[in-house]
Amino acid sequence: MKRKKEKYQKKNKHFENENHKAKKKYGQNFLNDSSLLDEILNVANIDEETEVLEIGPGLGFLTEKLIENSKFLTAFEIDDDLIPFLSKKFEKKENFKLVHQDFMEADLKTFFENKKDVKVVANIPYYITSPIINKLLEYRENIDEIYLMVQKEVAERIASKPHSKSMSLLTHAVQFYAEAEYLFTVPKEKFDPVPKVDSAFLGIKILKNKKYESQISEEKYFKYLREAFSNKRKSISNNLSNLGFSKDFVKECLKKVGKTELARAEEFSVQGFIDFIGILEG
Ligand code: SAM
Repeated sequence: MKRKKEKYQKKNKHFENENHKAKKKYGQNFLNDSSLLDEILNVANIDEETEVLEIGPGLGFLTEKLIENSKFLTAFEIDDDLIPFLSKKFEKKENFKLVHQDFMEADLKTFFENKKDVKVVANIPYYITSPIINKLLEYRENIDEIYLMVQKEVAERIASKPHSKSMSLLTHAVQFYAEAEYLFTVPKEKFDPVPKVDSAFLGIKILKNKKYESQISEEKYFKYLREAFSNKRKSISNNLSNLGFSKDFVKECLKKVGKTELARAEEFSVQGFIDFIGILEG
């Protein structure tokens, strides 16, 4: 038993003091590389005026830097075993609040009340990347920027340029309300335990001037978008027949916006899709 523990601690070098066994079910891959953490703080432009939200403080490596450099940090952590450790580690910090809760269950209305320009900075659990981003976008009025460590391919997709044929529902949602930027790649060896995939740090800057909402209501945009993506393998002309459009009519409209009859939803930029809806509705 002792040998097994020693072997585990050797493999997971950062846990020697904390004595915590990383839990796969909570997506625990810790990041304790001081220069990388400094780079995160630097690109996120955190200063003593910044109110920060962190999802999943884990063993508190990033948390510590955020507390030291921001006005106030609120962190949501789900893992019961980490709570006593984090509470003790930061007990003297007055600009820190630890919330022991599943972030996806959290009532953020209360959290965001009377808050503006919050920055979100987190090395998130990858199993809930899309739900986290979608939940944060609901509170975009109160958020300034979102900085997340995510799987490399996810960062590439979310920050993809229009017409790259890799747009997804999530990418559309992000790009409708915000500007996304692939900031830098983080090799998997930087994490502990080492995951199977490389990561990337992603920046999402909420658009204050409602670039697209002034052209189309979000309800309408997402109603068409959900249908367009309802079956990814099918063309838009097939998918939009669920909204009562004939396939031939949709094909005509596709031609008018310079697409082929077999075009799929993933080929559209946000602006391109808005233009397409305009033609469809005539
Ligand atoms: N921030 C730490 C770091 O960089 O070393 C830990 C990052 S680890 C990838 C993800 C963290 O999110 C873990 O601490 C995990 O327990 C926590 N977590 C997982 N699911 C969560 C949820 N639904 N709500 C809040 N925290 C969660």
